[in-house]
Amino acid sequence: MSLEGKTAVITGSNSGIGHGIAVELAKAGADVVINSFTDSEQDHLLARAIADATGVTARYIAADMSKPEDCRALIAKAGRVDILVNNAGIQHVAPIAEFPTAKWDAILAINLSSAFHTTAAALPGMRAAGWGRVINVASAHGLTASPFKAAYVAAKHGVVGLTRVTALETAEEPITCNAICPGYVLTPMVEAQIPDTMAEYDMDRETVIRQVMLARQPSKGFATVEQLGGTAVFLCSDAAEQITGTTISVDGGWTAL
Ligand code: NAD
Repeated sequence: MSLEGKTAVITGSNSGIGHGIAVELAKAGADVVINSFTDSEQDHLLARAIADATGVTARYIAADMSKPEDCRALIAKAGRVDILVNNAGIQHVAPIAEFPTAKWDAILAINLSSAFHTTAAALPGMRAAGWGRVINVASAHGLTASPFKAAYVAAKHGVVGLTRVTALETAEEPITCNAICPGYVLTPMVEAQIPDTMAEYDMDRETVIRQVMLARQPSKGFATVEQLGGTAVFLCSDAAEQITGTTISVDGGWTAL
């Protein structure tokens, strides 16, 4: 399918899943805007690499998704937004009684509130263009819970709720909104959790991966960023026109348990 002529903005896309989604949307022909809160040469080179590999226009726009004004400025600077992928996210693992307030606030802001602000800013343009796709990267933790991830699980459940409301408010328009719910994907975010989990359970790396992380992923394999990108491309296709307000799990069977 071709997304030629469409522009996609992917938040939190200088790494991991967001970058993978940007690459797959670009391969499908969409111009892409990648984003993070940094503004380094490396960030801009990432956009250049996507453009060189696919022939689309790719830009990097710095904006901090913990700040409402930056979220809205990202949409304004992008100019045209046909596809909005709310992907930026962070994680912190601690028991509720010891969960740092600043981490709670940051996770809620970046993982949940940013999607509200970007969606609010992007919908008028989608309505004017007569087509739009909002794709929220939630998580298996948007549908189920794990201990020690209070803020993350609360934020991701919130993202699923926001997805449903966005879908209902746009239901009679040529705009859809869905959430992708990945299980474990081996990205820098997951890599960062391995040392703490090794210490917590007194296990080596391979045992943590197999017995802790993938314990709840019946396939016993990580999902890949390319597969998540492919799911996003599908949600932008004509075949997905009547798919709205739902969650698509890419979790190796986790939520079937
Ligand atoms: P990652 O750490 O590789 O990527 C996170 C991205 O968000 C990075 O580009 C980072 O720069 C960006 N980001 C962080 N804070 C930001 C801020 N304040 N403003 C703008 N950008 C910011 O992690 P990932 O695994 O690719 O995660 C991407 C999304 O997928 C997250 O929402 C995460 O919750 C979700 N997810 C990941 C997994 C997994 O197993 N990796 C599973 C389910 C859901």
